[in-house]
Amino acid sequence: MVARARELGRGERVLPGLWRLRLPLPWEGVPHCNAWAVSAGSGIVLFDTGMHEPGSLSQLERAMDQVGLGLEQVRLIACTHAHADHWGQAAPIRDRAGCELWIHPNLEHAVRTATDPSLALARMLEIGRQSGVPEQALHRYAERARDAPSGVARVLEPDRPLRDGLTIETDLGEWTVHETPGHAPSHVCFFQRERRLLISGDHLLGRISLFFDYGWTPDPVGEFLRSLEVVEALDARLCVSGHGRPFFDVPGHIEGNRRLVRERLDATLKAIRAEPRTALEIAPLVHGEPLTEATARWWILETLCYLTHLARVGAVGREGDDGELWRAG
Ligand SMILES: [Zn+2]
Ligand SMILES: [Zn+2]
Repeated sequence: MVARARELGRGERVLPGLWRLRLPLPWEGVPHCNAWAVSAGSGIVLFDTGMHEPGSLSQLERAMDQVGLGLEQVRLIACTHAHADHWGQAAPIRDRAGCELWIHPNLEHAVRTATDPSLALARMLEIGRQSGVPEQALHRYAERARDAPSGVARVLEPDRPLRDGLTIETDLGEWTVHETPGHAPSHVCFFQRERRLLISGDHLLGRISLFFDYGWTPDPVGEFLRSLEVVEALDARLCVSGHGRPFFDVPGHIEGNRRLVRERLDATLKAIRAEPRTALEIAPLVHGEPLTEATARWWILETLCYLTHLARVGAVGREGDDGELWRAG
């Protein structure tokens, strides 16, 4: 494999008082994530943190330094959700800045993975088995996953749980918390009403890309669709998201996400119309291309979320009570 040149942390001003801190990620296909700094009195509120790995705090400091900011100025860390690339560095930043961490309390999905990786792996292998993945492939996956770091420096309890309606004061005005589960059970967006600015985390991304945490809530896809309605009602003008550049045309992005979910739900149904299939067999049909080692876990879990959603409305069922095969109707 050819080693990819790693990105470096980079800071840029988006608006007076709002900076994008672009931080490198070790993931194939997702080279960086964003944290957003918003000025607040003598300091800043830091929305999201980047992932924890060797050297990652220096990357954040490098990005902040480029726009004249320092870690000691962080007065508050507020996270959009508890995926490693959004809250992984919360602990070292809090240690340095002496500030609070605010995050949504539905953290089980993240806490379990970070504190008990072997249990998390066992759970993933069981899901794989139930999806028709052969033992040999599961074994290869386990070998890779065992060495993978969690990306979370230390699990922290929120100093304040982020809930609907909670507000955060900054020099750009007040930001309101909107719970937007779906991508993750802990997901929230932050909205600044007067400026119609949305900090969307991974709920809305510049490049439409769907991911749902499977198995922690009853219906991640249904939750995601409801969360799109929540954000649509805000009527945001500019969106700054967890990955990629800021973008306008928020309604277009919302509609694009809806359309893609609809297409994939249809493709899921179509895949099992003629004969029952496993999630392993359905996933490549949903995406229209074969699974690879890089996509298999993500696409199978995503497909299980579509199947779960369709099962709730009675459109699909399993052969046997919890068998591997899914059938239409
Ligand atoms: Zn995420
Ligand atoms: Zn992310």
